[in-house]
Amino acid sequence: MPKYQKPKGTRDLDENTTFKFEVIRSLFVAISRFLGYGHVEIPIFEKTNLFERSTGESSEIVTKQMYKFQDKKNREFALRPEGTPGLIRAAIENNWLNSHNGDKFSYFGPFFRYERPQKGRYRQFFQLGAESIGSNNVESDAESIYLLSFLLKELKIKHVIKLNSLGEKEERLRYIESLQQWLTNNKIKIAKEDCINIEKNPLRILDSKKSATVKGIKQAPKIHEFWSRETSDRFKKLTGLLQAANVNYQVDEFLVRGLDYYTSTVFEASGHDGAQDAYGGGGRYNDLISELGGKNTPAIGFACGVDRIASALKFDQIKPFCIFIPLGEKCREKAFGIISKMWSNSVSVKPYWNESNLGKALKRANSIGSKYVIVFGEKEMQNNTLLVKNMKNGNQKEIPINMSSIMSALGLDE
Ligand code: AMP
Repeated sequence: MPKYQKPKGTRDLDENTTFKFEVIRSLFVAISRFLGYGHVEIPIFEKTNLFERSTGESSEIVTKQMYKFQDKKNREFALRPEGTPGLIRAAIENNWLNSHNGDKFSYFGPFFRYERPQKGRYRQFFQLGAESIGSNNVESDAESIYLLSFLLKELKIKHVIKLNSLGEKEERLRYIESLQQWLTNNKIKIAKEDCINIEKNPLRILDSKKSATVKGIKQAPKIHEFWSRETSDRFKKLTGLLQAANVNYQVDEFLVRGLDYYTSTVFEASGHDGAQDAYGGGGRYNDLISELGGKNTPAIGFACGVDRIASALKFDQIKPFCIFIPLGEKCREKAFGIISKMWSNSVSVKPYWNESNLGKALKRANSIGSKYVIVFGEKEMQNNTLLVKNMKNGNQKEIPINMSSIMSALGLDE
């Protein structure tokens, strides 16, 4: 057992994973900018009460999962468990909402939740997210969902968008009452662990992953039975917009999402197999901005788990384009000059500074899938040449040491 180990539930990201993260981040920033969202970064810790006020005092994230600490002046802070509260805080504080086009934001970064570690669930994880602030029109719901689906499509991740509406406040309250009644009368049909939420937070029971509850709850009343005419029309309009934009969606009558601030539209992107947890999700939160001290402003947004999308990406490990193998001290010294010249000519090359056994070095280069290998040993040094080997077809040739010959041997001269 090593003397020092990473904190439980955290990950050390290897180079292939960080490569995937980079691809996801840059694609997301580009796509969201393309749709008119500005990319921002905000602190990874905030005052604890910001999350209590927004995410919800009875939500699992706040009651059980926050990493809280006091600073040297006894101020209460928490590592951010999610992105929306901090982003809204920043938008109000910096007056970002008053400019004409600064009303849509995207973010990317680490988040922290004290959860039971398991596959795909970590205590430090990454999320990307987008918040569209200022419009209550259903087209902005469609846009937010479109952005999430567009990103996953571009990453070639098969997914379906699950969709529901929590209706307006009165509809929700009437539903909660009816659901509570049903749950009280049908305790036997749901998992014991979920029963504690009947009083405190019955909606959350609909989110349960416990198999007894998932099965039993199917008979419970559904929120759409409580929708007003306006809510039904809005939902219908939304599905029409998504259909026209080719977004693959599915109505899910029991989707409520785990946070307290959602109103009206909620959505989640899941894998096709259905077994896997969601890639991400979000919804409308029309009351949050005024709750946090801003003007009464409608908004919608989503967050997506980067660790989870990275693990669904199908591309291979990153393959170095060219490995350079200098054999022995003298060759190494001269090799540095050649290699730095290649770098300054934008040729990607990875030197092996510690290999004096050619057979071993070639084996290593082969195992990581390098396209070319350049060997520079005593013989090449005497001849003032390089040996360039194409690892795909096995062809090799000796070339003079100058940039145009190197470029040509590496197929970079077109
Ligand atoms: P939430 O903020 O809970 O709606 O989560 C949005 C997405 O973030 C989820 O669908 C997951 O993909 C991801 N996520 C949430 N919590 C974790 C975690 N502990 N570890 C890894 N990914 C997470």
